[in-house]
Amino acid sequence: MIATLSSTCTLGEKAAILRFIEGHGLRVHVGEAGATTIVSIIGDPEPGLAEAIEALPGVASLSLDAPRYPFVAREARTEPSTVKVGDVVIGGRGVVVIAGPCSVESEDQLLTIARSVAKEGAVLLRGGAFKPRTSPYSFQGLGQEGLEMLARAREETGLGVVSEVVAPEDIPLMNGFVDMLQVGSRNMQNFRLLSAVGEQPTPVLLKRGLMSTIEEMLLAAEYIVGAGNPRVVLCERGIRSFETATRGTLDISAVPVLKERTHLPVVVDPSHAAGKRSLVPSLAAAGVAAGADGLLIEVHDRPEEALSDGPQSLTLEGFADTMEVVGRIAAAIDRPIDHAAMGRDRP
Ligand code: PEP
Ligand code: MN
Repeated sequence: MIATLSSTCTLGEKAAILRFIEGHGLRVHVGEAGATTIVSIIGDPEPGLAEAIEALPGVASLSLDAPRYPFVAREARTEPSTVKVGDVVIGGRGVVVIAGPCSVESEDQLLTIARSVAKEGAVLLRGGAFKPRTSPYSFQGLGQEGLEMLARAREETGLGVVSEVVAPEDIPLMNGFVDMLQVGSRNMQNFRLLSAVGEQPTPVLLKRGLMSTIEEMLLAAEYIVGAGNPRVVLCERGIRSFETATRGTLDISAVPVLKERTHLPVVVDPSHAAGKRSLVPSLAAAGVAAGADGLLIEVHDRPEEALSDGPQSLTLEGFADTMEVVGRIAAAIDRPIDHAAMGRDRP
């Protein structure tokens, strides 16, 4: 349920409304939409309670068909939210590009890629240290050693670091090295992990599950925000479909749908959707044209030798070319890419 308070509602009335609702065992989330205050009511109300709330002084109206995700619903805020990762703002005017290898493999590999993507306008570096691989025999990541390499690359290039967390117990370790925790597709409905990243302050990049609906993704985000961490960025990365020409089917309509339903920033990962290098530039361009706040792109200096996701990784040159195309589209929709400080929070 969502209660809209009247414009003449006093502070005393507002406090009484919240006390009344909480006194009946329900949780509240208070949001401002312009001059209007919106109270999202979370939980199942006992019979007759809705009518009682609607009759309280200061309540203008009560809507019963409110979204199931009051913390992340678009209605919960006047403006879309922005998420700061270091000094980079995701969800602001500029399109933010996060780039780097699928897996951290060596210091040399990571630094070569980091320097190159930074030069082309990426502002955050991605790289997996704990890899959730389909086969137990595939490369599982370098673990802490990989995190240390990411931190050294950050020191050298100034790029903030994004890396995937696969288990709640790794969060304290990761927080010593990374600026943003990625929750991968395979873990989008790992509810213990969602609550755990929600109980700490590091920003979270939440990727859509391989076979999850948009509503399920929003409910997953609700776990994180509801647990106390509002710094969540959603990522459309392709979903399973009957189509086999691509690794996933990039659900481009998820971008405008999410923009309608949630205030959280949205980024597109063209790499995992495509599964194939040649398709990545087109999907990246489509993501930006559809209104994404950013891109997550896999890049490798020698993709043919990559320990994971080589076929979909752009070469350094391919990334430079892609940035050129994406930059032109971003400029055309008035979200220009500033190669020196794209997306950065500047006065
Ligand atoms: C990744 O980003 O390397 C990754 C494993 O992505 P996803 O969870 O989308 O498959
Ligand atoms: Mn990958």
